[in-house]
Amino acid sequence: MTTTASAKRYAVIGGGLSGIGAAFALHRAGHTVELLEQDAVLGGRCGFDSLGGRPIMMGGKNIGRRYTELRAFIADSGERAYEPFGINSSQIVDGELVTLDNPGVAGFLRHLLRMGSPIDAARLLYYGARVRFDESNRYLGSDCFGKAESATLDARFGADFCRSVLRPLTVRLNAAEPGEVYLGALGVGLGMVQDRYDQLVDGMQPVLDWFAAQVPVRLGTRVDRIVARDGRVIGLDLAENGRAAEFSAYDGVVLAIPAHAAAVLLEPVVPALSKTLNEVAYHPSTVAVVHYEQPFFGSDVRSIAFDSGPCSAAGVYGVNDLDIVRYTFSGRDARPIPDALLLAQWIDDAEARVRGCLDRPAISRVRTETRSWAAAHCAYLPDHTGFRARLREQLDSVAGLQLAGDYLLGAQLEACYRSGIAAATALTA
Ligand SMILES: Cc1cc2nc3c(=O)[nH]c(=O)nc-3n(C[C@H](O)[C@H](O)[C@H](O)COP(=O)(O)OP(=O)(O)OC[C@H]3O[C@@H](n4cnc5c(N)ncnc54)[C@H](O)[C@@H]3O)c2cc1C
Repeated sequence: MTTTASAKRYAVIGGGLSGIGAAFALHRAGHTVELLEQDAVLGGRCGFDSLGGRPIMMGGKNIGRRYTELRAFIADSGERAYEPFGINSSQIVDGELVTLDNPGVAGFLRHLLRMGSPIDAARLLYYGARVRFDESNRYLGSDCFGKAESATLDARFGADFCRSVLRPLTVRLNAAEPGEVYLGALGVGLGMVQDRYDQLVDGMQPVLDWFAAQVPVRLGTRVDRIVARDGRVIGLDLAENGRAAEFSAYDGVVLAIPAHAAAVLLEPVVPALSKTLNEVAYHPSTVAVVHYEQPFFGSDVRSIAFDSGPCSAAGVYGVNDLDIVRYTFSGRDARPIPDALLLAQWIDDAEARVRGCLDRPAISRVRTETRSWAAAHCAYLPDHTGFRARLREQLDSVAGLQLAGDYLLGAQLEACYRSGIAAATALTA
């Protein structure tokens, strides 16, 4: 590993997994880099929080077995124990609980045929095979899905199939309905369902603490303005811990924040790029994590996806945490984000629904934590290949600037981390 610092000084804006990927890649390549994060903690939409003193993650936490770059980064931080998150997932279809746990190919095919027409099933299997046998199809802009027509999923699959097979996927991954997700993004969704997930026994925080000991991180530091002169980024206006913004010089910048936020910062610098970034769709989501006095789920059913209503899914926090339930509220019925009163009602309703499905008596709650994101999940845009081409062209008009984020390769943590590495490589090329 190279550790000699270069004469150039880079900044990465955003302390989520995209920014961490970029900053770590720059650091490893021997460059001087600072990571700037407006919040008091790193992690962004991983959503670090605490439930009665126990560290929890309200946002992205499950790490796929195919998350090779992210797992390599975690391994660099030392020996970390993973626990399987499991693949058990049940769903409500027309009021009936259907559980798929290691169904095998034949079992999965029977499930698909039950949910829709043979044409829908064959089409999904075709796309599923493209993802299974070509790693690149798990990411946006791949050869197969990049060329896919810009139709939404509901234009290519029947209504029943959309409701019972695709909706549980899209509301969880994109917080969007099948009519709001494009065929070009299906590879990302299928890549996610084909993976198997683990979570870190001690969560991500120890990994991020290790990262912050390697790479200079400035928390509580908001970037107010990107300063460019003669077609080149020369620095940033930074407001640190609530103080008035001050200029800080940098030779290059990776902007690793969601597209809508990047659009705001870029509007005065490259208005055309800002306009392009504003085309990316995001949808809201709310998560409630509830600690119960006793196990709520059993080991037979560990998560349930709902086909209607504001609660899109409810599931155990981990296979060893059957008494902690994470309720996710996303999709059209969960918009706009609720106030405290409405959310309390949603949690009560979702809990009653799960109890009804599992035939459980009432169990007292010990404590509840909630978090809402107005723009939680990226639902991308119709023509990703065209979008990327325009971004490249518009980025060429300003030197010393690169982009990373969930809208480039996909929203999964691995894709975000990889987008950061790619941005760091492009910045120093
Ligand atoms: C509820 C939920 C559950 C999820 N579950 C999973 C999962 O289990 N597995 C998975 O792979 N993915 C999951 N995801 C997706 C994944 O968590 C996100 O796509 C990913 O964390 C996004 O990372 P990011 O770095 O691109 O953006 P963010 O995490 O949003 O990071 C951007 C950072 O930039 C900072 N920032 C913004 N503007 C400025 C500024 N002007 N100055 C300084 N800082 C700024 C923000 O504060 C933020 O910390 C989930 C997402 C959600 C919301």
